[in-house]
Parts: sequence; C-alpha cells; structure tokens
Amino acid sequence: MSINYDTLRKLQDVLAQVFVIEDKIKDIPRDLYDGESVLQQIKIDYLDLSAKRDQIKQELDELNEKYTNAVKDREEKESSMVQATLVRESESTEKAINEARATEQTLFKSRNAKQKYLTELEEKLEVQAEIVKAKEEEVAEDRQKKDALIEEQQKILDELLKEREELSQNLPSNLIFKFERIIRNKGGVGVVPLHGIICQGCFMELPQQFANTVRRNEDINFCPYCSRILFYEESEEDASLDAVVHGDVHDEEIDEELSGGDDVGVVDSDDNLFE
Ligand SMILES: [Zn+2]
Repeated sequence: MSINYDTLRKLQDVLAQVFVIEDKIKDIPRDLYDGESVLQQIKIDYLDLSAKRDQIKQELDELNEKYTNAVKDREEKESSMVQATLVRESESTEKAINEARATEQTLFKSRNAKQKYLTELEEKLEVQAEIVKAKEEEVAEDRQKKDALIEEQQKILDELLKEREELSQNLPSNLIFKFERIIRNKGGVGVVPLHGIICQGCFMELPQQFANTVRRNEDINFCPYCSRILFYEESEEDASLDAVVHGDVHDEEIDEELSGGDDVGVVDSDDNLFE
C-alpha cells in the first residue's frame, strides 16, 4: 500500500480556502451590527428631541393663551378709563392699566423667547430626521451589500465543501479530523516534505529511524514536532543520508528498506489516498 499525498495536498488547499471563507462569513454580520446600533442610538436621540419639542409647544400654547387674556384685560381696563369721570376713579384705573401693561409685556417677552426656542428645536429636529434617514438608507444598503457578499461567499464555500467531500471520500475520518486541525493551526499547511532527516514544515531534525519509516511510505506519518504529515521527497540532503547509510551503517536490511521507498512519491492519477 503506497500513499497518495497529492490527494492530501489538494485537500489541504481546499481546507485552507474553506477556513478563510468561513471566517469571512462570520465577520460580516458583526460589521452590520455596528451600523445598526449606531442607527438605534440616533433614533433614540431623535425621539428625545421630539418629546422636548412637544413639551415646549405645549408651554407655548399656554403662554399664548395667557398673553391673549392679558391683552384683553388691558384693553378692558383702557376702555373703562375712558368712562371714568372722577379723578380718584381715573387714578386707580390708570394704575391698574399700568400693571396690566407690565403683565402683558412680560408675557409677550417670554412668549417670544419660547417661540424662538421652539423654532430652534424644530430646526434641530429637521436635521436629526435627515441624519436618521441617511443612516437608515446606509444600513439598508449595507445589509443588502452584505447579504449579497454572504451569498457570494456561501456559493464559493458550497463548491469547496463539495470538493472536500470528494477528496475525503476514502480517507479515514480520524485522519481528516486531525488533518483539518493541523491546517487550521499551522497556517494552512498540513502536509510537508521530508528532506533527508529535516522536516520542511518546522525544520527540525528527526531521528534517522523515523526518517526511514517516512521514506518507506507505508503509513501516514506525523512530524513529532509540528504534527504535520510528512512525505518523502528527493533532495540534496539525501546524498549525506546515503553516505551515512552506505558508510557507517551498511546494512542489507536498511538498503532494502530504502530501495523499497524509492518508488514512493510517484503519485497515481487516482485521487484517493490509499491504493
Ligand atoms: Zn515538523
């Protein structure tokens, strides 16, 4: 049984893309939520201002009524002045008229001030309404854009998941599980070559015995340091490895093992891992 690392490499590429897109989709609603909470606050501000406007409007109505009454009161007093015949009578009426005029003046001023305040509030409200409207449009547009973006990403993801399904078909589920975790944790790279006795994922030196095992390619081997799946790949480091094997530890058995591993790395056109 030899192992097809091409399938694993293809699966690795697919999985790395799946993780990127899954993260992207996860981030999208969070951005949208920010916009909506801002809109919520703007609406609350608008309602507060609107309540204030209603209150001032009511106060103005009351002042208007008081002012109208004060004007009527003063006019009545003025007309009674015309009818007054006695000096004493006319003196007290004049005093009352002056008082009525003062009251009228005071009410006139505070009514005008209130009217001015109301006008200011109404202008502010108008601006605030524009802001709410603009933000609402922005959020709606954002939502639409993001829905389209999610849909687009979801389409790509569905394709990738289909590919993952196909590539995983003949792999043991515990291997897939482990492989996915490695790819997620190791920046998208879960299967790396072994050059000589050096793992090309973490560049640690592995024990000679283990390197030989990888070279034999009879089973899936994980780097003991970085957990990535290792496959043998011919390299310059093999020269020094061969020197060690053929020089110091010349051994028929090792020779056999190594020659057995020589046809390893030739990948069948079949996409399945085990053949
Ligand atoms: Zn390693």
